[in-house]
Amino acid sequence: MSSLSRAQRVRRLANLVNLSTPLGLLIATAGRARRRPGPGGLTLAEGYTIPFPPAGAFTVGNVVISPQRFDELIGRNPTVMEHEDVHAWQYVWCGGLPFLPLYALAAGWSWLRTGDVASGNVFERTAGLERGGYREAPVSNAGFRTLAERFQTLTVNPRRLAERSR
Ligand SMILES: [Zn+2]
Repeated sequence: MSSLSRAQRVRRLANLVNLSTPLGLLIATAGRARRRPGPGGLTLAEGYTIPFPPAGAFTVGNVVISPQRFDELIGRNPTVMEHEDVHAWQYVWCGGLPFLPLYALAAGWSWLRTGDVASGNVFERTAGLERGGYREAPVSNAGFRTLAERFQTLTVNPRRLAERSR
């Protein structure tokens, strides 16, 4: 692809060498997704059949994976590729695979603060919540409160928890 910018070539090479793109290709293959070249040196993998993660699209290295077709996805959300493009850069800045545990931590923190895994997640905020199709939840400590309630139920009255889970 001769239309790639120098930065996009560097990103493609970096995510190859740091193994995030090879992992993305492996995940796409495991999920029986069809692959084709996308914009900016990214690879589009569509028709992914594994129900995890529960997302319209997700990016691993330079591979953008979706259970849907990209023309449908982009039709519904025209800015989704700009959002995923930022994620591909985040793999470069994280040195590849460390992105995954760092993302998981950021998602956990977001859940504690807002009750969802994206609104307070630094990776999603940087990629653009709106561009990614996320509705921003306010900071409410919803996750902290849920945990506190469960902890209280567990310590104050364990029998109630057993009854509730029946
Ligand atoms: Zn995202």
